[in-house]
Amino acid sequence: MSDRPLVAVLGGGQLGRMLGIAGLPLGVTLRFLDPSPEAGARAVGELVVGELDDETAVARVADGADVVTYEWEGVPADGPRAITTTIPVRPAPVALEVAQDRVAEKETFTRLGIDVAAFVAIDAADDVPAALEAVGLPAVVKTRRGGYDGKGQRVVGSTEDAGGVWDALGGVPLVAEAHVPFDRELSVLAARAVDGSTACYPLVENVHAAGILRTSFGPARGLTEELQSAGETIAARLLDDLDYVGVLAVELFERDGALLANEMAPRVHNSGHWTIEGAHTSQFEQHLRAVLGWPLGRADARGSTAVINCIGHMADPSTVLAVPGAHVHDYAKSPRPGRKVGHVTIVADDEATLAARVAQVRAIDPDDRA
Ligand code: AMP
Repeated sequence: MSDRPLVAVLGGGQLGRMLGIAGLPLGVTLRFLDPSPEAGARAVGELVVGELDDETAVARVADGADVVTYEWEGVPADGPRAITTTIPVRPAPVALEVAQDRVAEKETFTRLGIDVAAFVAIDAADDVPAALEAVGLPAVVKTRRGGYDGKGQRVVGSTEDAGGVWDALGGVPLVAEAHVPFDRELSVLAARAVDGSTACYPLVENVHAAGILRTSFGPARGLTEELQSAGETIAARLLDDLDYVGVLAVELFERDGALLANEMAPRVHNSGHWTIEGAHTSQFEQHLRAVLGWPLGRADARGSTAVINCIGHMADPSTVLAVPGAHVHDYAKSPRPGRKVGHVTIVADDEATLAARVAQVRAIDPDDRA
């Protein structure tokens, strides 16, 4: 590996942009593949414009790189797999395949002894009644592939609602899940290095509205050692089973002090943005360290941190930065309703001070949907 490594990243959105920012002090150069010439990561590295399912474009961005990684889990695994004989691809493409298919994902969780909501695959309209009968009502019916931010899913509360669900979701393979009356949503982010060592961040608490992540608290408020340990076990099983290298995120439901896994993302994650200011090593630096075969950094928190996602409009730094502990991250995306265009991180020494500062930021910059 050369002194100044080159990392090829499949995808060039805000996650790629923040990987690139983390790469600068490390002397790491990044080259991104993205279909948009306007991709936000172009500010922090070379941008190759091309489709992520175009194997020639994947080979082009990987050419001469020390390692290939991704910042979007929708990349078809064939492109990265085709280059694994010449360039390390980290995490290994099997993680993409598992994360892209909700049934494969839940089967993996189950095989590893990780609890999930009851689920049944639906391959045809005729399968819907039996699947709903098996998981019980209310149920959440989701497309097996391609859903995000609550898109591609329907809550089915009664057998009358069930009739149109196959057509409403586009006549594609689905999965029915039992609806979990969770107490709150959490996620666990952890990294595994080439030598198999791991570092797990404190669990994060995630507050969604209309299917979109609005606010994260890292560490989760009132986090206990038991809950942390349960989350670490989930992450460790997946990291080892997938022979994973890099940062992995697993979205979780907490119910009566127990954790159920919902889905995983084989990449840095929106719920890990708090780590930039709030942890000893940011998820972005950690991911680069891992994929480059370097030692991992400390993953513990520096204090109490919240991240408020800027949805539909960017917060105004000239006002928000008056709140102590506030930091602004603008992804340089054009504003559009429902689009994540940046985030505000607020750090404090304790949860009570953090709550007061979050309220201050909210008062200055109300949520579009609040
Ligand atoms: P997903 O696309 O699986 O991340 O789901 C988006 C959001 O829908 C989650 O963050 C939850 O708020 C909600 N959700 C998904 N699955 C379930 C479930 N089985 N029970 C209750 N809520 C769910």
